Amino acid sequence: MTLSELLPSLGCEAADHLEPGIWPRSTRLGPGGELLFAGAPVSHLAARFGTPAYLLDEDEVRQNARAYRKALPDAEVAYASKALCTRAVLRWVAEEGLSLDTCSAGEIAVARSIGFPAERILLHGNAKTPEDLKAALSYGVRRIVVDSLDEIEQLGALATGAQQVLIRVTPDVAAGTHAAITTGTEGQKFGFSLREEVRDNLGRAVSAVLAQPGLRLAGLHCHIGSQVSRVDFYELAARKMIGVLVALRESNGVTLRELDLGGGHAVRYLPGDTGFDIDGYVRRLRVALAYECTSHGFPLPKLTIEPGRAIVGPAGITVYRVCAVKRGSRTFVAVDGGMSDNARPALYGAAYTARLIGRRSRSARRPMTVVGRHCESGDVLADGLSLPDDVRPGDLLAVPCTGAYHHSLASNYNLVGRPPVVGVSRGTATLLVRRETEEDLLKRDLG
Ligand SMILES: *Cc1c(COP(=O)(O)O)cnc(C)c1O
Repeated sequence: MTLSELLPSLGCEAADHLEPGIWPRSTRLGPGGELLFAGAPVSHLAARFGTPAYLLDEDEVRQNARAYRKALPDAEVAYASKALCTRAVLRWVAEEGLSLDTCSAGEIAVARSIGFPAERILLHGNAKTPEDLKAALSYGVRRIVVDSLDEIEQLGALATGAQQVLIRVTPDVAAGTHAAITTGTEGQKFGFSLREEVRDNLGRAVSAVLAQPGLRLAGLHCHIGSQVSRVDFYELAARKMIGVLVALRESNGVTLRELDLGGGHAVRYLPGDTGFDIDGYVRRLRVALAYECTSHGFPLPKLTIEPGRAIVGPAGITVYRVCAVKRGSRTFVAVDGGMSDNARPALYGAAYTARLIGRRSRSARRPMTVVGRHCESGDVLADGLSLPDDVRPGDLLAVPCTGAYHHSLASNYNLVGRPPVVGVSRGTATLLVRRETEEDLLKRDLG
């Protein structure tokens, strides 16, 4: 028998603190089990905006952006907009001096609608459509990261000015993350491989770009994956990339001045997760780049990095309402959202935690499984979670670290409308993206 079973009240009292490191920095426990988020009581926000809802702490997004700028004052920090692409978020990161990484005409359209400076935008993608390329060219996006010989030809045919391009390289660094988000190894779809002689593969891409009068080759790009916590993988990628720049100088006679090392910096989803040590990353990169460049007599390239998750992920939480509790060999707590607002458990087996908010429970805690409302048994939001035994319909649950790849990966599976995104700053909430309605859903269905 555990202590909390002997003294049921102890279980919740002892656990009545926020798990360190995973909740947005502004989050506090308030009276009566309330959760304060950026100065606002979450149960009030749930009543005002409905559930499920994504809540985003504007000040934390800005602080995260600023931390990168401060750690790398001489590099370009491009926010990867695919993590969360709303006009307000793009405005905040633009104001904080970040650049922007996009990968579709749609993301460029959002950036364009708020006047995000085109000279600070990059376009990525392994299968850019003519519409994507035209959107980038018409807005004057400064750099397009090319990913295949076909694309170089297609872009060359469309570009009229001196469109700057970076070539994406596969550095063959296994970043130790989930296969679906490992992008820097051999045998996945992104980039030019280094397996063959550089001059035979990447060298051909370089020649192809140089042969296009409308294109100007600015440098190289790589992105080793996502949710990468170890900085030594980046150091290894940086060393390899300088080696590639040196090899291209020999094989193609070009000295490229820009190096984009991508994003992928990890955040904490669960207590005990390892985050990303930005200062350690910067220190090791600086030393590695300086060493490799000096020893090969190569000029230090201008550096770009592309964090997405690390800017917005930790700044967001999702609030759900419990619909039903089913007790049996396992206890299921079913909430009013699920895999349509959080696809990550189903896509990558991602694990989450959740906490009861809005009331204080004296019940003992028991292991429970939080499930969504969708018609798939894989629709599990958090497993083996310790929740108070008296959890019941109407209760609110909050899930931390949902700012990145939640709204942006959301679907309307089962024709459930996508949740709103609510920005909160110093106690004031603003609806940034409204909830998807039945009218929205019916509008596109022309019968
Ligand atoms: C996804 C992606 C990023 C951002 O990854 P995060 O894990 O969100 O930091 C950056 N660059 C490229 C090319 C990407 O595909």
